[in-house]
Amino acid sequence: MRIDILTLFPEMFENVLGQSILKIAQEKALVRYNLFNIREYAENRRCVDDRPYGGGPGMVMKPEPVFNTIEAIERQTDTRPRKILLTPQGHQFSQAIARELANEPYLMLICGHYEGFDERIRTGMDILELSIGDYVLSGGELPAMVVVDTVVRLIPGVLGDHDSTTKESFSDVLLEYPQYTRPAEYRGMKVPEVLRSGNHQKIKEWQRDHSMKRTLERRPDLLHKI
Ligand code: SAM
Repeated sequence: MRIDILTLFPEMFENVLGQSILKIAQEKALVRYNLFNIREYAENRRCVDDRPYGGGPGMVMKPEPVFNTIEAIERQTDTRPRKILLTPQGHQFSQAIARELANEPYLMLICGHYEGFDERIRTGMDILELSIGDYVLSGGELPAMVVVDTVVRLIPGVLGDHDSTTKESFSDVLLEYPQYTRPAEYRGMKVPEVLRSGNHQKIKEWQRDHSMKRTLERRPDLLHKI
């Protein structure tokens, strides 16, 4: 998968993309990240934002530097990316959307800043608008990192054991069951007997029951989906 990230702050990504699973994915040549500084494509490099028409606080990202960046990238390749605009007004990002995006060969994420985007950036292209939650961050960089991390770990071969992406919270709607590791007893708290029994059928039933119970207690809204 190719992932292009368009941002005014490319340096913010270097550490995140260069660590852990995101780094391993690139080393395994399963993904390639490209960072583009929108400012470099502005006709006047110092001017990527301007005051909003009609008044109001803050500055709005101008359409021209964003369109220029996308067109410069698209001139270099025949493949068309699935474009994603990070915005608090977008569809709520979810594991289901991440799974769908993990099948795409080429994603392009566009990060806003200041008061957000000129509306013509949304309306002037075919673009998926995504929000990572009902709160407002100062820029689209952290949301883009959230999307990239969630999607990349779902690409087959990225994780050592791909099964871990099919048996975790939200993979089949439910939250995951409680997990334990050694020691069998810690400060008087014991690992449930059944998990140490070696009886695979019983262990499966325990995990399913506790997955249900946990979802019912914490996220009953999810149960409506099944
Ligand atoms: N004025 C905008 C509004 O009220 O909808 C908020 C702009 S926000 C301060 C600046 C940028 O941060 C946005 O353009 C977007 O790229 C990003 N952003 C902020 N919160 C986000 C969220 N919850 N999900 C995705 N992107 C977000």
